Amino acid sequence: MGFPTTRMRRLRRTETLRRMVRETRLTVDNLVMPLFVRPGTNEQRPITSMPGQYQWSVDRLVEEVKTLEGLGVPAVLLFGIPDAKDEFGSAAYRPDAIVCRAVEAIKSNCPDICVITDVCLCEYTSHGHCGVVRENRDGVADVENDATLELLAKEACCHAAAGADMVAPSDMMDGRVGAIRQALDGNGHEEAAIMAYSAKFASAFYGPFREAAESAPQFGDRRSYQMDPPNQREALREMALDLEEGADILMVKPALPYLDILQAASERFDVPLAAYHVSGEFAMVKAAAAQGWLDERRTALEILTAIRRAGARLIMTYWAKDAAGWLA
Ligand SMILES: [Zn+2]
Repeated sequence: MGFPTTRMRRLRRTETLRRMVRETRLTVDNLVMPLFVRPGTNEQRPITSMPGQYQWSVDRLVEEVKTLEGLGVPAVLLFGIPDAKDEFGSAAYRPDAIVCRAVEAIKSNCPDICVITDVCLCEYTSHGHCGVVRENRDGVADVENDATLELLAKEACCHAAAGADMVAPSDMMDGRVGAIRQALDGNGHEEAAIMAYSAKFASAFYGPFREAAESAPQFGDRRSYQMDPPNQREALREMALDLEEGADILMVKPALPYLDILQAASERFDVPLAAYHVSGEFAMVKAAAAQGWLDERRTALEILTAIRRAGARLIMTYWAKDAAGWLA
């Protein structure tokens, strides 16, 4: 039955009607706030390419987490900036690593908030790559997969020992989820969950993050380990493998340009899905809003709702704090 019997506008007439038939709901429960922690005290260093985002010292980070908890944000995702870097990223897997100190401080002040830690080496290596760099068969410097697994597993165990509820490997090495699961279980951390950055694409949208985490590669790029953007089938295969290796939550990163991947994954997998709404996606809107070209709040909420609609239950977003306020 078509027009004029059918009129789609009938159910759009008032806000109450729209509210009643709304199919997707974005709530504060969907939001995870990424936070950057650095050494020092009383530090809140602005990240210029991500307006309103900061690198925090542990003491100030705890204050920020208390604010987030007060707004109802259920989780934070921590990235560490160490005071010294070396070839093997050893500052990532010491018991006194900056992220471990942050986890301990948060857990003793805000025990109920879920603390997720990013597990990777790029913030800690002098070369800025996500693992151990060796020459490959073509004589080109590249990240060696298997040697990196052991270091990632050590890092994950340090974070879990400090009290992290969940570790989130973002390196894209083959077999890392299995290696981390095995190491966690072998060290008494069987309760720590793994949120795997399963379909992480070699994206141009990570630009501002590299300033935030001081993790730009000093040579080459990450295309030999992160995924090639045109590939959807391969993304689903990566996710299936991570699930088999023991991942509790599967992530797609970035979010907005990859909603098709999220949708396909939500049809295929029964585990909770996460999407990382990345720095470049955030910075674009911020820049346009600063020019008066976009309404930041409306744009941000529309994007976050679209990510939910595509199938993400959890959204890592730099808008988590603002959105919690907007949604209240
Ligand atoms: Zn990395």
